[in-house]
Amino acid sequence: MIIASQKPIDEIKEYIKDYKKILIAACGTCVTVCLAGGEKEARELAELLSLDGDQEFRVVTPERQCDSEFLAEFDENVGWADVVLSLACGVGVQYMAERYVKKPVVPGLNTSFMGTNRDAGYWTEMCQGCGNCVLEKTGGICPVARCSKSHFNGPCGGSADGKCEIDPSTDCAWQLIYDRLKSLDQLEKLYETIPPRDWSTSRDGGPRKIRRPDVAIEEG
Ligand code: SF4
Ligand code: SF4
Repeated sequence: MIIASQKPIDEIKEYIKDYKKILIAACGTCVTVCLAGGEKEARELAELLSLDGDQEFRVVTPERQCDSEFLAEFDENVGWADVVLSLACGVGVQYMAERYVKKPVVPGLNTSFMGTNRDAGYWTEMCQGCGNCVLEKTGGICPVARCSKSHFNGPCGGSADGKCEIDPSTDCAWQLIYDRLKSLDQLEKLYETIPPRDWSTSRDGGPRKIRRPDVAIEEG
């Protein structure tokens, strides 16, 4: 899932200070699960912001802000608002801005990464969406996102005691890969060199698109 966290309250106040009616758009998917932009957080934020003055707030929580299928209820409320304060990830904020061309849409969250929930209030990065997954070769542990240098063929010289040289609280991805392959009795995979990659499937190729003709709806 996408992991995000709420912006500092003073930053949010600055974004909305020139508007009277503020529609807070929560989102029912990733940001609800990571406790940053769901219905509960949106209502708490509305209460907090209301303490300050004469602004009015409404909260609407579509299932997903990044999908037109779920925005009908939202459409009904946008006309009322002077500004939309979106508590979705950066995708949702941009989708809203594209859909409501005459309405300012401002972000209430900082979107950080694709990751997983490790413990209460603790998330870690797992995937950078490189577009050419190699998890089959690395025991299901991502060398792109989880190695600080995105090394593909073993650790750098800084790995020590199973930890990454950038931070002693961060596991070395290549130690994890080694341990995992050992437990699978697949250590021979470490002898397979992963060749230099074509990063055009990642961000280096510019903004990406996926078209699936098999699921597209033909016009006419
Ligand atoms: S190899 Fe690429 S697609 Fe696979 S988990 Fe890592 S970043 Fe994501
Ligand atoms: S110590 Fe390990 S995780 Fe850190 S940069 Fe080197 S190989 Fe990557």
